[in-house]
Amino acid sequence: MSDFCLKFRPLLPLLAALATPALQAMPAEASTASVPSLAAVTEVLSQQHRCSATLLLRHAKLTKMQTSQICTELAAVEQRFHQLLNTGQKPVADDGNSALRANIYGSRADFERFAGAHFKMPTDNGGMYLEGLPDKSGNQAEFVAYQRDSGEVWNLRHEYVHYLDGRFNLYGDFCANLHDSHAAPENCPQPAPLTPYLVWWTEGLAEYIAFGADNPAALALARQTAGKQVYPLSELFNTGYVSQGGTERVYRWGYLATRYLLEQQPAKASSMLQFLRRGDYPRYQALVKGWGSSLDADFQRWLATL
Ligand SMILES: [Zn+2]
Repeated sequence: MSDFCLKFRPLLPLLAALATPALQAMPAEASTASVPSLAAVTEVLSQQHRCSATLLLRHAKLTKMQTSQICTELAAVEQRFHQLLNTGQKPVADDGNSALRANIYGSRADFERFAGAHFKMPTDNGGMYLEGLPDKSGNQAEFVAYQRDSGEVWNLRHEYVHYLDGRFNLYGDFCANLHDSHAAPENCPQPAPLTPYLVWWTEGLAEYIAFGADNPAALALARQTAGKQVYPLSELFNTGYVSQGGTERVYRWGYLATRYLLEQQPAKASSMLQFLRRGDYPRYQALVKGWGSSLDADFQRWLATL
């Protein structure tokens, strides 16, 4: 799995409470019988710092200067997001994720040791955004990450964009947004919806707002492949996590496709967003399919200008 994030909703206590007694019995027995108890999340991440009404940091060992830098950096991301996407600060309907809690372990080792138990998530990744069930009261949107040896928090801006995108652009939870991932902890139902998906957008937008125009890896890719039409734009809309995926395609090409649409085709981006915000995913798919290959040549022309 890549060093980048994945975007999932967690298995919530809420869901456990809804489960039948029979389903609950087995894990409960197993956990009391043999698993030594791990320190609770509030013990491991014992520090809290509130950046703003929309962002709380829960962490192990960030310094005062680090929390201050993170708050400043993410406030700038938030502002860029709302300006670029013209949200009017209006969340999508039925979204109660009014704030994000960023959970930041002190090291990769602690992340691997604790995050699985604390958040019911895999840890073979660079952190995860857990949107939860945004329409359920008591839901808490969580970002789970760790400090690298340098002290820096991995993927912070990228993950914060996932939170904002989920709240202001994409109606519904992670399973409602079009993709082909069925992995735990999400376990979205099979079969996956038909393409086009939204993976190019969610990951591409996170990269675009995190890096702006300064994304050397994506720009190098655009230059190396100039004139070769490695991926027509129409093909990038089909990008998935499982099939038609991979780090380069999901993150670098996702960045290029998203940046192209927002910078070069703002009217089309705006039409698309209207459908996404309403959760009218069939019409999003019809819109993108309707574009067909009509933008492919212009996308190639634009790539050559980067
Ligand atoms: Zn991501």
